Amino acid sequence: MLKPLVLLCTLCVVVYVSAQDNLILFIGDGMGYNHIEMSRLVEMGDTEGVLSFEDLEYSTTIGTNALSLLFTDSAAAATCISSGQKVARGRLNVSRLFHKHYETLLEYLTDTEEGRDYLTGVIAKTTLYHATPAGFMAHSTSRGHSEEIAACIIADQPDLLMGGGGTHLSSLLDSAAQYATDRSHLRDLTSDLPVVGLFAEDDMKKVVHRDPDSDETEPTLTEMVVAAVGVLEAASAEQARPYVLVVEASFPDKGSHSNDADIAITEVIELHEAVREVLSLIDLSETLLVVTADHECGALEFDTDLARDTLADASLTSLETLAGTDYDAVTLQRTERIALLDDAYSWGSTHHTYRPVMLAASGPGADGINDLDGRLLHHKGTSLLLHRVADPGYQASKNFGYIGG
Ligand SMILES: [Zn+2]
Repeated sequence: MLKPLVLLCTLCVVVYVSAQDNLILFIGDGMGYNHIEMSRLVEMGDTEGVLSFEDLEYSTTIGTNALSLLFTDSAAAATCISSGQKVARGRLNVSRLFHKHYETLLEYLTDTEEGRDYLTGVIAKTTLYHATPAGFMAHSTSRGHSEEIAACIIADQPDLLMGGGGTHLSSLLDSAAQYATDRSHLRDLTSDLPVVGLFAEDDMKKVVHRDPDSDETEPTLTEMVVAAVGVLEAASAEQARPYVLVVEASFPDKGSHSNDADIAITEVIELHEAVREVLSLIDLSETLLVVTADHECGALEFDTDLARDTLADASLTSLETLAGTDYDAVTLQRTERIALLDDAYSWGSTHHTYRPVMLAASGPGADGINDLDGRLLHHKGTSLLLHRVADPGYQASKNFGYIGG
């Protein structure tokens, strides 16, 4: 967002200074390029259509290794995206030596002494103290320390939280200005903060496990994201403060660990739907939208030509027009298509891999991807792009960390 700053001088010159823009970051956990390729074919059929996040203005390819060239995990990857620092697998914004605490993206964007006063929101379909969301809200030597991580979240609570994890976070419902425990509550939310939405004690349901024969109380990822953007846009306008929203599509990874394409692909498509809806709600002149993955999982192989031929022979075209009309019927059609593509894909692993992932963005500062492009890329570059939403001159080396307990 560019704001005019009128300087009083003899010539009355109007200059433009860069203000702090909003930031919405989507992370598809475990989502490699072949996950995207397969999801596009399932969703778009034998057409030239692309997924919403494939259509963003700028994109590049990102390496994901953790410290010491290890293939990464969600904790180390989220730490790098959030703080710009490489750590060993399993650690959340804490260095191996001396247990230095690295400043998270949310801490950086809420450093009022430095003139940054963002409203903050975090959404995940897994528990909010799970590795990826925790990478933006907590410091811990182990992603397994759920209670310690939950205590970090409670102590430094974002303005908006939605997801699973009632087991350790239910106390937040008592102190929230507004809370939601059922998808119907999302319709009534106003701009009063903090907002807490907890829809499951543990993980929320995966797309394919939603029950078509009963009224689901859990919202979809898209429903959470649309509600959150509505709250944050309204609060941002009222308080004249920018906002940051971090959203994890949590389960492409879990589906890939178990080599279950029904789960992995429908969860990537759910991310596509959430991004598509957000694009219809926000103003890209004042909000930077970034979509990436923390790492690939499953070493998914996919034969695009065979898949196209198979879908063409079956006369299956785009599902896009059906999306949002009958959620369960569309989900069923997606899993039927995945079954149809059985010969076109295979899994090479049940673990994370070194494969590069996508980084794509639209909005103010998105062209910073051009500066990253062609370099030895890593999520350190992603972090740089994110921090520059508040300060175009941000240098990664500023984040030296501090000695933590
Ligand atoms: Zn994983």
